[in-house]
Amino acid sequence: FAPWRDPNAKPIIHFQNVTKRFGDFVAIDDLTIDIYEQEFFALLGPSGCGKTTLMRMLAGFETPTEGTILLSGEDIGPIPPNKRAVNMMFQSYALFPHLSIWDNIAFGLRRDNMPKNEVGDRVEEMLRLTRMEKFARRKPHQVSGGQRQRVALARSLAKAPKLLLLDEPLGALDKKLRQDTQFELMDIQEKTGTTFVIVTHDQEEAMTVASRVAVMDHGKIVQVATPDAIYETPNSTYVADFIGDVNLIEGKAVAQDGEKVTIAWAEGQPDIIGTSDKPFSNGKTVHFAIRPEKIAIAAEKPDGAANTIQGKVLDIAYLGNISTYHVELANGHIIKAQAANNRRISRRSFTWEDQVWLSWTDTAGILLES
Ligand code: ATP
Repeated sequence: FAPWRDPNAKPIIHFQNVTKRFGDFVAIDDLTIDIYEQEFFALLGPSGCGKTTLMRMLAGFETPTEGTILLSGEDIGPIPPNKRAVNMMFQSYALFPHLSIWDNIAFGLRRDNMPKNEVGDRVEEMLRLTRMEKFARRKPHQVSGGQRQRVALARSLAKAPKLLLLDEPLGALDKKLRQDTQFELMDIQEKTGTTFVIVTHDQEEAMTVASRVAVMDHGKIVQVATPDAIYETPNSTYVADFIGDVNLIEGKAVAQDGEKVTIAWAEGQPDIIGTSDKPFSNGKTVHFAIRPEKIAIAAEKPDGAANTIQGKVLDIAYLGNISTYHVELANGHIIKAQAANNRRISRRSFTWEDQVWLSWTDTAGILLES
């Protein structure tokens, strides 16, 4: 897998052919991957795909059945969890309720016998970093949920770990607070330069915070790339479907002229013209994937579009800035198209049962083999 932003970045974590079995069950399946210094790395995937197991192996709570994990080039297999330069922050982080926020942050440093003045400096630095200076004397229950989350973060960063693991860290927060906190997390990650690995169910969250996103399926990483690359060029229908909204149309490649591929997909429906740099044998089954926002919707048939198709508005989801239209074709297939809402195109431009034309360019979608 290619490194992220910085081509000179060094891997801080290296998984080499790591497998984790629980009895006969393979939770992590022969995984090899690098995570880079200063990276904000997100693990994304459905429940049970192995995200937490991967994190727990990094933290030292689970041991790989096979393979090795290196941290800064050193095999961490024999190193117990408390001796690793790795810290884990949990969703419902157990802050000590009877201790002040100051003492909560200082706790691990004192346990490590750090000199008193250094503890003080470090705690103050963490309070500044998380903008909690004013609340240092309060107990955890005397601050808001979002602030408690920041204290938990301050506490997990106090010992300056090389790697911070965040398992659904914002799961307990409501949507608005969650979004604000995502930006704070990004800010803090950038300021400290600590490598963050986050596990989340929420693909929007992964796309927002991460420098790279790894999509997992049954113990394997099926694609790892920057958020925009994952979104624009998913390598399978699984990834395309997991990240954002997508129309998937199965058809057969029936002609190819250079990069231009003609896909026949349904009787009575016009062929789809797509682009691919791969050669497809005639008659090969392909999947055409196109995001709803790449499909234009109009009352009249547009001139000059590579693909035009007619249908009827079945459902409309009004989302404020945009609306998503479910358009039913004559063969019963439903295509999702999105249009921006503004004065020219008001939400009433199209209504239920309207006959509409959908159109897109020949490079708007991608062709996938599986
Ligand atoms: P979720 O998003 O629901 O937390 P996940 O992707 O984090 O899921 P894991 O918790 O890593 O998934 O679990 C992966 C698989 O391994 C699951 O099928 C789970 O049941 C199984 N598993 C995890 N821990 C154990 C264990 N100690 N013993 C047996 N099976 C386990």
